[in-house]
This record gives sequence, C-alpha cells and structure tokens, in this order.
Amino acid sequence: SVKWGLIGASAIARQFMINAIRAQADGKIAAVMSSSPERAQAYAVENNIPLAVSTLDELLGEDVDAVYISTTNELHLEQALAAIEAGKHVLCEKPLALASADARRMVAAARDAGIVLGTNHHLRNAGAHRAMREAVAAGRIGRPIAARVFHSVYLPENLQGWRITKPEAGGGVVLDITVHDADTLRFVLGDDPVEVSAFTQAAGMAGGGLEDGAMCIWRFKSGLIAQSHEGFTTKFAGTGFEVHGSQGSLIASDVMTQRPGGLVLLRTAEGEEQLSFDHEDLYVRSVRQFHAAIHGGGQPAATGEDGVWSLASAEAALQSANSGKAVKIDPKL
Ligand code: NDP
Repeated sequence: SVKWGLIGASAIARQFMINAIRAQADGKIAAVMSSSPERAQAYAVENNIPLAVSTLDELLGEDVDAVYISTTNELHLEQALAAIEAGKHVLCEKPLALASADARRMVAAARDAGIVLGTNHHLRNAGAHRAMREAVAAGRIGRPIAARVFHSVYLPENLQGWRITKPEAGGGVVLDITVHDADTLRFVLGDDPVEVSAFTQAAGMAGGGLEDGAMCIWRFKSGLIAQSHEGFTTKFAGTGFEVHGSQGSLIASDVMTQRPGGLVLLRTAEGEEQLSFDHEDLYVRSVRQFHAAIHGGGQPAATGEDGVWSLASAEAALQSANSGKAVKIDPKL
C-alpha cells in the first residue's frame, strides 16, 4: 500500500484529493498536518484521518511513503525539500514555489534523492485534454497554427482568502490559473512556449496589489501563437480551449474545470465530429499515475519539470505585465 501524509488542512484536499487517494486500491491516508493543532484535529475527525499533527517533523517522522502538499504557495518549497530529505515521495500543488529557481531546487533535490516529485496539474488528466492532445499528435488538424484558452471564472466565496489578499502567500490569478493554462497548452500542443506578453488587471476583487484578471499572448517553439484569459471575477464566462490548424480545428467547451466532461468538437473539410473520451475523475487519475511512478511504472501525469515550466511561464507573464514588454521563457532545465 501507499501511505500518504497530507501537508496542509486545505479545501482542495477535502474536496478532491482525500477521495482520490482513497479511490486507489492501495491508497491510505495516515496523517494530516496543519500549523494549528485545533484545525489539524478537527480536519482529521471530519475526514476520518487517524492522526493529526501540527509540525512537519512529526509528520515526516511517521510511517508515510508519500506526502501531498496543499498549503499556501510560499510554504511548498521548504516543505517539499524537507519531505524529500526524509525520503518521502512528493506530490505538490501548483505553483511548485513562488519562483522558478526555487522549483528547480525541488526538482534537483528529488532527482538526487531518487524521489518521485509530481505537480498536481489536474487538467492533464482530463479525458477532454488527452483526446485533444492525441488528435493534435495524430495530425487530425494538420499543422497547429493558433490556440485560445478561456479560463476566466468566478472565484467561489469560500476561496476568497489568501488568493486575493496575500502577495506574500503567492496570491493572484497568474500563479493560480495561468500556471494551469501554460501547462495545459504545453500538454495539448506537445510544444513549449518561448515568449509571452501579458496584461493584468485588478477588476474589483483582489487587493494588496494583486491581479484578479490576466490576458496573455504566447509564442511557441513551432511558431504557433496562443492566447489565454484567466480571471477570478467573471461569473458568467464559461470555459473553453481551441486549437486551430491548417487542416482543422479543435473546439472544446466547459473543459477548464475540476470536473470531468465538457465537449470537444473536431471541425475539418469533412464536417464536424464530436470526440469521445473517458470521464474519469481527474484527481483519481493523477494519484493513480503517481502511485505507478512510485512503483517504477513511468512518470507522474505532470512531473516536477512540468511544474518548473508552468511556473517559469507564469513568472514571465507577470514580468511582462509589470514591464510592458514581451518576456522570453526559459525554465533552465
Ligand atoms: P486553503 O485556503 O483551503 O488552504 C491553504 C492553507 O490555508 C491550509 O494549509 C491551512 O493551513 C490554511 N487554512 C485553511 N483553512 C483555514 C482557516 N479556516 N483558518 C486559517 N487557516 C486556514 O487552500 P486551497 O485548497 O484553495 O489551495 C491550497 C493549494 O492547492 C494552493 O497551492 C493552491 O494553488 C492549490 N490548489 C490546486 C488546485 C488544483 O486543482 N490543482 C485547486 C485548488 C487549489 P494549515 O494547513 O496550516 O491549517
């Protein structure tokens, strides 16, 4: 079995990841760590977790094989490095850190220690995105020319905390959502971004100098250009992902979400076809791939290196927004 320790008494663990671990035939949750003993205890009771601890040392001293880190973003680095040093495999939430140089340190430490490090970019696990990636790779739209990502949502009230108030915790929509869009573009296109130009805004929800909306324009290695829109403040926008090629277009709607589903259309000279794909829970698949990687069966759905790429991309987008200039993307991997 794989015994997990949860670092962070978070909403994402409660809503998706505890279930995703327990959905595995061999997945067990041994302990949860919160910085507050009371919150740790309450969370453990609420989620039926046998042990509640309030320090990292206690958690890492337990008999756990892997940790899932879902604390606020400024804590991921030191918690991941400590877990790696203690010989635990690490599935870390995005962004891996606040700066790509720190994410690279995590990747290097995991590599040196022979530890599996994964980034929880859930969208790679969506049937819709995997179907689009396969269609692109199989040449069904010819040569990909342009892509558009629609991922501006309304941040639910229960999550309107550190994301919109705390720059020091890695708040803001770019570290929250642009990282996912950068990763999903890389995954679907099988191509890497080389440059980005971005505008950000504070549209009335975020404070503390943080942005709650962003529009980015990306150039990829192949010459493809893409646009992405991320936001916290648009209640009625809907989500989508499009790739337009020389011989066809992929047009997906309702696919930038945490739930499986959505619609993917392939439009070519032959007409329109709806692509079929599986509807497995994204997070269940993420944990399954991670378990397989621990057992020597390949890589996590998104590796530590993928997390460096998405963070380097988001970092470049923020630099562009601040400077008013296009910024080159270099993950230095
Ligand atoms: P939460 O705000 O729910 O939790 C983050 C931290 O906040 C917790 O670790 C906890 O600290 C603290 N906290 C939670 N509730 C309270 C409270 N009532 N009072 C005081 N402190 C509290 O964060 P999210 O679950 O939204 O996000 C956590 C991480 O997961 C982030 O890195 C985020 O980017 C990522 N994420 C990823 C998603 C994905 O789909 N891949 C989706 C959502 C988030 P402590 O542990 O010390 O108690």
